[in-house]
Amino acid sequence: MSGSSNYQAEVVELLEPATLLIVWGDGHESLFSHRSLRESCQCASCVDEWSREPILDSANLPVDLHCTGFDLTGNYGLNLRFSDGHATGIWSFERLRASCACPECDGSNE
Ligand SMILES: [Zn+2]
Ligand SMILES: [Zn+2]
Repeated sequence: MSGSSNYQAEVVELLEPATLLIVWGDGHESLFSHRSLRESCQCASCVDEWSREPILDSANLPVDLHCTGFDLTGNYGLNLRFSDGHATGIWSFERLRASCACPECDGSNE
């Protein structure tokens, strides 16, 4: 399983409460909270393009923040839409897989 950096998502599903499920091509399952995804958004309105300094203040996010939908951007990643109206972020599958926090990955595997 090592040496594969080209991760493919077989299944992408929004689950209650506020969880995103991804089942990968190798059968691995990852769960992400919608809030943590929103907080890790790397788009130009959340992170300064030049300095990479975060612009988003997660304290200003609504407490009931959740994902309202998503689009696949080719086989590269996901464009997620959030209940606060934010819809410009793209999460690459590679980054999502690398940030998997399940016991097996523990967010440190990469
Ligand atoms: Zn963003
Ligand atoms: Zn994992």
